[in-house]
Amino acid sequence: MGRSVLVTGGNRGIGLAIAKDLAAQGHKVAITHRGSGAPDGLFGVQADVTDAEQIDAAFKLVEEHQGPVEVLVANAGMTDDTLLMRMSEDQFTRVVDANLTGAYRVAKRASRGMLRGKWGRYIFISSVVGLTGSAGQVNYAASKAGLVGLARSLARELGSRNITSNVIAPGFVATDMTDELGEDRKKEILAQVPSGRYAEPSEIAAAVRYLASEEAGYVNGAVLPVDGGLGMGH
Ligand code: NDP
Repeated sequence: MGRSVLVTGGNRGIGLAIAKDLAAQGHKVAITHRGSGAPDGLFGVQADVTDAEQIDAAFKLVEEHQGPVEVLVANAGMTDDTLLMRMSEDQFTRVVDANLTGAYRVAKRASRGMLRGKWGRYIFISSVVGLTGSAGQVNYAASKAGLVGLARSLARELGSRNITSNVIAPGFVATDMTDELGEDRKKEILAQVPSGRYAEPSEIAAAVRYLASEEAGYVNGAVLPVDGGLGMGH
């Protein structure tokens, strides 16, 4: 059965791969963007996840277009890397605001519709570094670790209402975000990945597809690594 899906940051990178994959499964898929417009075949709404009013307006458009959001993929995210000694408070709070508080904002806005519809799937895109830590990413890793606590608390609050809440922790994926890393850093990272390569965005999308499915109804509060073995044991 086709569900009403919203993918934040679905205009490019991992979010776009997730949106295309879910659309190919027959779901009605909307994405948020911040002005780029929607890629072909997807319903686009403009919203910055740091702004609750924009989120509310975007949800209203999605609800009119395809009904209340039943599958929410909180994917929008950013980095602003530097060592703690050099990291300004603004650099810390901006990343947490987008990655963690942004996920809280969209999750809260989606909850009404899921409760009314007595069915829901929350899927939060975290990161392996939320579990292992990462030098130069105190802000980013803290925001991604926070998503685990958020998702697991939501699982406890809404689990009995047929709503699941899970986290995907990707390793390194070939997108604009990782393209910014220097060649030396990329080599260093690859040396630590048992699979010896970056993930393709479609490999993260495949995990989302499963968690969004009817069959995954008893998977709740889980953190699913898709990291080529990088975070093994976490
Ligand atoms: P990209 O940089 O390619 O894309 C980031 C997406 O997030 C864009 O759609 C961007 O919108 C959106 N976004 C950023 N900030 C905001 C905001 N304030 N409000 C709304 N949208 C926003 O990144 P990836 O595709 O690589 O990453 C997607 C997710 O996966 C992120 O949460 C990231 O942390 C996570 N991840 C990525 C990994 C990787 O190796 N690439 C590894 C682990 C996790 P816009 O186009 O308008 O800028």
